[in-house]
Amino acid sequence: MIRFRIAVLFSVLTGLSLVLFMSLIYFYTRIDKEDEFYQELMVRAGIVGQYRLEKDEVAAEIYSEIIETHLVKLPEEREYVIPLGHARYALDSGLLSPEILSETVLEGNLTYRDGPEQWASLLYEDNQGDFIILISAIDKESIGELAALKRNMGLGLAFTLLVQFAVGWAFAKSITYPLTKMSGQLKSITATDLSHRVKVQNTQDELGHLADTLNSMLGRLEKGFEVQRKFIASASHELRTPLTVIMGESEIVLRQERDKKKYIQVITKIQKEGENLSSILHDLMQLTAVSSGLLQFHKERINLADVILDVQSQMFHFAGRKDLIIINYDQGAEIPWITGQQRWIALALSNVLRNAMKYSGFKETVLLNVKLAQGNELLLEIIDRGIGIPADEISAIPAPFYRARNAGTLGGRGIGLSIVDEIVKLHGGSMYIRSELNKGTTVYISLPLAP
Ligand code: ADP
Repeated sequence: MIRFRIAVLFSVLTGLSLVLFMSLIYFYTRIDKEDEFYQELMVRAGIVGQYRLEKDEVAAEIYSEIIETHLVKLPEEREYVIPLGHARYALDSGLLSPEILSETVLEGNLTYRDGPEQWASLLYEDNQGDFIILISAIDKESIGELAALKRNMGLGLAFTLLVQFAVGWAFAKSITYPLTKMSGQLKSITATDLSHRVKVQNTQDELGHLADTLNSMLGRLEKGFEVQRKFIASASHELRTPLTVIMGESEIVLRQERDKKKYIQVITKIQKEGENLSSILHDLMQLTAVSSGLLQFHKERINLADVILDVQSQMFHFAGRKDLIIINYDQGAEIPWITGQQRWIALALSNVLRNAMKYSGFKETVLLNVKLAQGNELLLEIIDRGIGIPADEISAIPAPFYRARNAGTLGGRGIGLSIVDEIVKLHGGSMYIRSELNKGTTVYISLPLAP
């Protein structure tokens, strides 16, 4: 859970910096306390020396004052006054080590620690000879103070961590709240109802951008589902019509015995509808193959002039051996090369040209202009002077099965231009239609030129 993780992260970060900070405080406090205690031990070593070795030489009242003010015993205090001449005994008994002895003699004094005990050793020079004064004690007061400091810091740390966790939790909640809300909204969106959109309060921040992205994705999905739904509805409708005829005719003819002429008439009708069915299926398969792009799409270099020549001869036969197509190459566009699949490009071009001739009743000529646009694009203009398309229907034309209301009895299924649209998109180009009712139609196809 993201909230928990943010809260823990908050606490861990604060905890780590606090532990570091507190450790430094503890460490330096401890060093200070130790140094203070060593100083005190050293002062006491000096006094012990004077007290033990020089009381015969100084006034008695001064000594009693010294004893009163300074020689109240420290916790676990031990003092040793060792004549340097007898240092060997101290070494033998383990009271002194050779290192401590030599360091003290060399430096005049030395402080060191042995477990909880702190030690001070001082070289004392007296008229009776040289002495080593050793004094040790345990700084119980500092030990107590340090323990209290540790305990208080621990408590403070625990309390701060708790507060930090609570603050982190609240902070995480405020951050994740819009996300939780968004996911709640998304849950109510299903494939059957994609009309809902995600709402956020601040549209300018990252979450606003995320909501925008999700909403535009939902928009595309909704559109896609809608297209698919319409496609399935239209396809089933298209298939149902010939099937109904076939089933109806065969049912009627089978009701009673008929003469040969009737049988021939009905079977001919069934055959025609069968052919119709097969051609619908062929169109549908072609459309799905192109639009799914699944067809092995081997890109090859295509010379468009060759394709046009091929298609032109096809159209000659389609128009009943009439040459209705006039081809016009712009300067510089004589041999345009594009990359893609030749048979798809030929299919797209022939679909558009077929329409142009069909919707001008095979009476008018059709103009095919080949142009270069912006240096790296090829533009094909297919211009006819046919029945045109009503202005409000132009944008719907590339949708599968869509036929304009004036297409009327002129044969067709509304699939040809959908295939063209898909093929052009598959080749990285675009299609655009401009038309005026009863005046004519121009279909523009732009395709990227081969590098
Ligand atoms: P079909 O021609 O088989 O109906 P298309 O997909 O090729 O299918 O065209 C879809 C519709 O667009 C046609 O039914 C027709 O209404 C309109 N259309 C296409 N091309 C032209 C054109 N050149 N002139 C007039 N209408 C056209």
